[in-house]
Amino acid sequence: MVLNATGRYAKATFAYVAAKLIANASPESLSRLWLLFEKVSSHPADKVQARRFRWLVEQDHPFGRWLKRVSTELNPKSRESLIQNLYGNAWFLSRSARRRFQRTHGFAPPYLVVFDVTARCNLRCEGCWAGMYGRNEDLPYQLLDRAITEAKHEMGVHFFVFSGGEPTLRKDLYDLYRAHADSHFQIYTNGTLIDAEMAAQFADCGNVMPMLSVEGDAVLTDNRRGSGVHDLVMSAMDDLRREGVLFGFSVTAVKSNVDVIMSDEFVERLIERGCLYGGYFQYIPIGRNPNLDLMVTAEQREVMRVRRNDTGWGRQCSRARSRIAASTEWGAAQHRRSGALNQLCGLRPTV
Ligand code: SF4
Repeated sequence: MVLNATGRYAKATFAYVAAKLIANASPESLSRLWLLFEKVSSHPADKVQARRFRWLVEQDHPFGRWLKRVSTELNPKSRESLIQNLYGNAWFLSRSARRRFQRTHGFAPPYLVVFDVTARCNLRCEGCWAGMYGRNEDLPYQLLDRAITEAKHEMGVHFFVFSGGEPTLRKDLYDLYRAHADSHFQIYTNGTLIDAEMAAQFADCGNVMPMLSVEGDAVLTDNRRGSGVHDLVMSAMDDLRREGVLFGFSVTAVKSNVDVIMSDEFVERLIERGCLYGGYFQYIPIGRNPNLDLMVTAEQREVMRVRRNDTGWGRQCSRARSRIAASTEWGAAQHRRSGALNQLCGLRPTV
């Protein structure tokens, strides 16, 4: 018990120190940080992970370059939340709470919890599942607050995903982000309501990570989401980047956009816009009148699977591929071990 507490304290201290030191860190400093983490870790899995990270940084692997971007492009609060909340509290530091939960209930708790915080939306995208539900409903603030508090204390969860509807329609959520400053909030947003003022609010909170939806290029995005939406999303990315907010892109694969969204050019363009993560989802037809024509074909799914699992995304030499960060590879490795099929929806750091 005492050893556990000591180990947790050492790791928490490391996460705190790392978050400070990583600002403008050189590759040598990043390498030393992981060496330090290996020393303070008591859990063998943490030591292995730390060695792996250090090796990747030293080999000039895309993960090292991604870390470099984290160190230079994010504002201090966003960087601290990424390291202390997402990689610290939600991952390295939650082991004892997770073990306690598993002992009590006989199964492992999740690493993240997803809330559809609202059914309201300012857009009407073709094929959207949210359109099948009431358009005026929000999850009550008190319910969200209680569920998050319980998830943290009982399951060790510190990573929460907000979807909708359009989460940025809810201004009361700023209070929630601030009330749970030890957690990381990833929000899936159409991006059209994010302006300079909202970007500044997210920067001030630090622990909010918007994932902005695009469907591919401007034509594909506007065709599915509405005229002018692509330009608004690009402008939102510029505002977020200016504020040093951690953000990424989110794409839904449909029959008409697979070639574009799996291309190097697409990823490259969003990296240059400031995205540090990217998430890929597949269109799933649900509701009373699902549009089966939007679904990707079996052949397209295979193309995506190979692209996704091709660890060459991190290894091969074309510029965009070499800039897709390492977690794609780790995700693939875990995928093979677990046999899970939903890793395509996983987080993808990009550099
Ligand atoms: S922005 Fe999202 S929630 Fe809103 S209509 Fe489009 S897909 Fe649905």
